[in-house]
Amino acid sequence: MIIVMKPGATKEQIQHVIDLVHDFGLKDHPIYGTDRTVIACIGDKRTVDKGAIENAPMVEQIVPILAPYKMASTEVKQTRTEIPIGPKQFPVGGNKVGVIAGPCAVEGRDQLLRTADAVAAAGAIGLRGGAYKPRTSPYSFQGMREEGLKILEAARDATGLAIVTEAIGIESLDAVAEASDVVQIGARNMQHYPLLEAAGRCGKPVMLKRGPSAHLDEWLLAAEYVINAGNSQVILCERGIRTFETYVRNTLPLAALPALRRRTHLPVLIDPSHGTGHAYMVPNMCQAAVAAGADGLLLEVHHDPEHALSDGAQSMTPAAFGEMMNMLKRIAKAIGREM
Ligand code: PEP
Ligand code: MN
Repeated sequence: MIIVMKPGATKEQIQHVIDLVHDFGLKDHPIYGTDRTVIACIGDKRTVDKGAIENAPMVEQIVPILAPYKMASTEVKQTRTEIPIGPKQFPVGGNKVGVIAGPCAVEGRDQLLRTADAVAAAGAIGLRGGAYKPRTSPYSFQGMREEGLKILEAARDATGLAIVTEAIGIESLDAVAEASDVVQIGARNMQHYPLLEAAGRCGKPVMLKRGPSAHLDEWLLAAEYVINAGNSQVILCERGIRTFETYVRNTLPLAALPALRRRTHLPVLIDPSHGTGHAYMVPNMCQAAVAAGADGLLLEVHHDPEHALSDGAQSMTPAAFGEMMNMLKRIAKAIGREM
């Protein structure tokens, strides 16, 4: 349930209600808005004396939260969440469309720094690159791991880009959180609940990809795990789902954008690289995603896609990326957004 305080409620009056909520065994998540505060209460409501709360000074009303996810829901928070990322604190989730680009995997210092320079020059706000790679086959390149993290840090120092890299397990989470500006939880791990909880305690924003067969509610409940563990800085990333179709690696459902906008205040990125599997499809899908209201994009860019150690077929060249960014800026402008 949500306790809505009247405008002008004092800190003490809000604290009094929070204390009452604790007395009834519920967890409180206050959200301080510009004109009023609401207190979301999570837990077993059966033991709660609602009358006692309703009678507390400056309480306006108590409303139930109907969505199974609570803190991620627009029922609890109507204003869109903005998450500043990286050394320059680029906002994700505001009026700006943020593009995070880079290779699927960190393959070496030259490779990453070269790509980092190119995507920064084209207007990206973040650099992606897996140091730990969740590969379908155990015989495929598994990533440079700790060494890869060091290279990512060097790329941040050189460019000021926000570093986005994946934590594939709890064992490597601390190292990844330390080195990165945004911790990516990959599609395969969307239902790794202990990892989600650990990410909720990691102290960095989390980018949560949609599981390839997850419903929106399941995805939002996965986000709820991170938020409930103490981290409200969650960015969602749609990366396509598995369908019967074979001309694409995954089917990219852009209808998720309006559907999520109705359900959640969290920012949403679109990843047309994994969402199609083909570099030639990526520019069109990016245009559509920006036009449809995406908060940003996550893209794979490699200076030599033919020799990439992973996901070369879906990686754009820096030149194609630069050209596409120019087009996207025009689309963003046409719908009243910046890039
Ligand atoms: C990736 O971003 O390189 C990746 C492994 O993506 P996903 O988890 O969406 O498959
Ligand atoms: Mn990839």
